Amino acid sequence: MLVFSTLTCCTGLPPSGSGWPEALLPLHRGYLCGHEHRLLGEVLAEGLPANGGRFSTACRKWIEGELGARRVILTTSATAALEMAALLCEIEPGDEVVLPSFTYVATANAFLLRGATLRFGDIRADTLNLDEQALRSLITPRTRVVVPVHYAGVGAATEEMQSMTRPHGIDIVEDAAQGLLASRNGRALGTAGELGVISFHATKNISCGQGGALLVNDPRFDERASILSEEGTDRIRFRQGTVTSYQWHDIGSAFQLSEMAAAMLLAQLQAASFITMRRNEILTSYSKALSPLAQKGLLQLPVVPGNCLSNGHIMYVILPDRETRHRLSGDLRALGIEAVGHFMPLHASPMGQRLGYRSGDLPVTEDLASRLLRLPCWPDLSDVDIERVVNALETCLTAGSD
Ligand SMILES: *Cc1c(COP(=O)(O)O)cnc(C)c1O
Repeated sequence: MLVFSTLTCCTGLPPSGSGWPEALLPLHRGYLCGHEHRLLGEVLAEGLPANGGRFSTACRKWIEGELGARRVILTTSATAALEMAALLCEIEPGDEVVLPSFTYVATANAFLLRGATLRFGDIRADTLNLDEQALRSLITPRTRVVVPVHYAGVGAATEEMQSMTRPHGIDIVEDAAQGLLASRNGRALGTAGELGVISFHATKNISCGQGGALLVNDPRFDERASILSEEGTDRIRFRQGTVTSYQWHDIGSAFQLSEMAAAMLLAQLQAASFITMRRNEILTSYSKALSPLAQKGLLQLPVVPGNCLSNGHIMYVILPDRETRHRLSGDLRALGIEAVGHFMPLHASPMGQRLGYRSGDLPVTEDLASRLLRLPCWPDLSDVDIERVVNALETCLTAGSD
């Protein structure tokens, strides 16, 4: 039996739900399940192994079992897992990669590092995920990879995209960085594409500070994936005892998660279903409490399609215009509530412009990114806290609409 700590120990802030009106409600707060210190103590007692030990094995097995993933490689971050994916897909200069612009920079950088040409697609207005209808016109004879990003842990239409990619031998790399324990059509996010990545960064639902995983769903990548992750060597065979020394076979890097981080991750994974359940409860409470404002047309609530199970990664609302978003973010901050936008569309960034994109190229992305406001969401957020955020939102929204 796990015993869950009711206090969040890691921020030094007063516990939430204390009823202090002045207590800051940050956007995100890490959650400790109570076993972290013990497991970290065990790694230290074992002489601080580098990686690939029993904690890593236990994490891998957990992820494979819970997600129904064929093969998991733990990495230092989702960024590293994306970089591995770009190497495995053998991306070369001139190859095209389709991805949404509404994502974190790592999704783009991993492929740009290999010399790819990025083709940013617009997003759907309901899920904020890459629009599968727009995908057809973005695929060319040079397209090698499509990267659906599962925003907020709500599944992008990977299977529909596969009907366009599979006939042309195009690989799908799912950016499920935000998607642990979420699913679409009964399938865990990250397990449908040829490759998938998950993040265990401090801002994600389950965290070891910094860490990630590569899901190797297509067996053709199996051998090379383990060699790349071991700096281009066959150390894995050495560890398994099938060779007496290991050698350099390919390019690669130090992609493997450290054993210390794996011990931390193992503790978190044991609480993963509880954390996910709590986050989903919080999103449901928010949505119920905000529905009167939604009915008045003062904001829009997130959409989770019927074939998707979310993991409650992000609570956001879409406001009527960018000015309201800007004003509300400031007004809520003055009330001690951290509420901010999210990704700045990559295509309109300085780097995106250097790649030849301009503001106006992706209208749905630009519009929604400018109106989205994230609200505090973490497992210990209490009903009182939620009420406080909802009341503050209502006051600020109706004050501005007079
Ligand atoms: C967080 C995130 C990443 C990067 O994850 P790291 O583990 O921090 O490298 C990549 N893509 C998306 C969509 C993310 O949200």
